[in-house]
Amino acid sequence: MTFAATILTLYPDMFPGPLGTSLAGRALGEGKWSLDTVNIRDFAIDKHRTVDDTPAGGGAGMVLRVDVVASALDSVADGRPILAMTPRGKPLTQERVRELAAGPGAIVLCGRFEGFDERLFDARPVEQVSIGDYVLSGGEIGALVLLDACIRLLPGVMGAPSSGDEESFESGLLEYPHYTRPVEWEGRTIPEVLRSGDHAKIAAWRKSMAETDTRLRRPDLWERHEGARVQPPSGARRRKKDD
Ligand code: SAH
Repeated sequence: MTFAATILTLYPDMFPGPLGTSLAGRALGEGKWSLDTVNIRDFAIDKHRTVDDTPAGGGAGMVLRVDVVASALDSVADGRPILAMTPRGKPLTQERVRELAAGPGAIVLCGRFEGFDERLFDARPVEQVSIGDYVLSGGEIGALVLLDACIRLLPGVMGAPSSGDEESFESGLLEYPHYTRPVEWEGRTIPEVLRSGDHAKIAAWRKSMAETDTRLRRPDLWERHEGARVQPPSGARRRKKDD
């Protein structure tokens, strides 16, 4: 099964962009995934091909017209998951990326201006996705991020299939730090244990580094990881204040 990506955008020229090179580009050439773009402007209904209008209630910027965006979406909807790029969405996770990569593909809506008319999300089964707590000028780069994360997981795309297993987030932790030759650089050496050839010791060191770095750098991930590991016995959970 080929992972089929369809991107709805006002800037189709931005695709495949960086996904046309390296691993993703080769995989695209080999037919391991496919890419279609739909220009939202082709679904405008007036002679000026207008796709946006002023925000109801006033304020700065413009909002994408829901009728135009919905027509564009309806022209390609076929049961694949539909994702809209928006900073108001659920933060994208490796878990969701894995699910998407295992499916038939994705239809991705790229916002511009102030974003989408909220009624789109009531009227169509659209999952709102954010790629992080910062604001981009458009959804296209977010769509590229989402696709890149999916494509590298497709069968036969990454060199060594096992190289994804220990990756950051796969176990709920950040990955351990890496080193390679030269053994000594600017007076700094590679940790002794990694040169010991003792695989058990190396594995233990890596586990401990992954745990320490996650705890220090990403207390949010660490808390979730610990919470998942130490499940309270059922019924023994602390009652919430308003239970
Ligand atoms: N007014 C909006 C931001 C609009 S930015 C707000 O404050 O919530 C314009 C477009 O860029 C958005 O419609 C969305 O498609 C995209 N975009 C911006 N930041 C994003 C993010 N963090 N994740 C995903 N898409 C984003």
